[in-house]
Amino acid sequence: MTTESLNEAMKYYVTAFYKFMPLENLETIKAALKHKASELDLKGLVILGHEGINSTCAAPSSEALADWKSWLQTYFEVAAFDFKNSGSERAPFRKFQVKVRDEICTIGHPELQASNEDNNHLSPEQWNHVLKEEQDFVMVDTRNWYEHKIGSFKGAINPKIDQFTDFFDQVDSMNLPKDKKMLVFCTGGIRCHKGILELQRRGYDKVFQLKGGILKYLEEFPNDQFAGECFVFDHRVALDQQLKPSEQYGLCPHCGQPSELDIHCKRCDFQTKICDDCVKLEFKKDTCSKNCAYHFELHPERKAAHQNQATETPRLRAT
Ligand SMILES: [Zn+2]
Ligand SMILES: [Zn+2]
Repeated sequence: MTTESLNEAMKYYVTAFYKFMPLENLETIKAALKHKASELDLKGLVILGHEGINSTCAAPSSEALADWKSWLQTYFEVAAFDFKNSGSERAPFRKFQVKVRDEICTIGHPELQASNEDNNHLSPEQWNHVLKEEQDFVMVDTRNWYEHKIGSFKGAINPKIDQFTDFFDQVDSMNLPKDKKMLVFCTGGIRCHKGILELQRRGYDKVFQLKGGILKYLEEFPNDQFAGECFVFDHRVALDQQLKPSEQYGLCPHCGQPSELDIHCKRCDFQTKICDDCVKLEFKKDTCSKNCAYHFELHPERKAAHQNQATETPRLRAT
């Protein structure tokens, strides 16, 4: 899918990319990125490290997005970044942020050096071929439990992790034969790109990863082997099979997890969606915000006008 083919109703043009490459003078790069983003009215998150760049950003027009992409390629002297595009009617980010970190995707092993060479990458087509034609493999979701919960590849194992750094010990605890063919995947490819090095170091010899992750896969094969929606770390919460923002999920105003239970706030009558953890909690199950929960607990009988609260921010991270 190209940016141009996105639905007309989409007001924000979103692109995600990452690249492992040696970078120096990170503060200078950060300043240049901020300058360009402000010129284009771009919002989003860029993670910079000495090992490379990882980013998801939203532009207010297709022209601004095209400008951003070509500027990035010129600035970093890269012929073509592997951009994964999607869209949104509502702003997926409130501001533009550049964060400098030891790892552009945190696996807890900054000493592992990822290169841009393919390392057992499967294209979406090759991936589909294995899923449909082969039987002797295990497929493991590298993402967190709440990402897995709202959509994943059919038959994928969910290691039920809270964060990616827990993934490797969790895989070890599954006691899989180390020479068994293993397929791993993530949202945009970066967690696997780096994580496969740690798996290989632990002796898993036949691990394969999905190139470009779920986002690239859905561009090519919507409604095929991936079931449900793809969680993203911005205010869209999830993307459907057409890579359009979720209509099913919101972000729970109490805890920031994906939510799909419609509620009517007993204090201010506002309608929102809360998650299935918070629905078990007194004062949260009937209220639309932390503020309403607080006041409803003190004075359950008192009504108040709805106040526009800042939604709980999802744990923003580029994937
Ligand atoms: Zn919640
Ligand atoms: Zn309320």
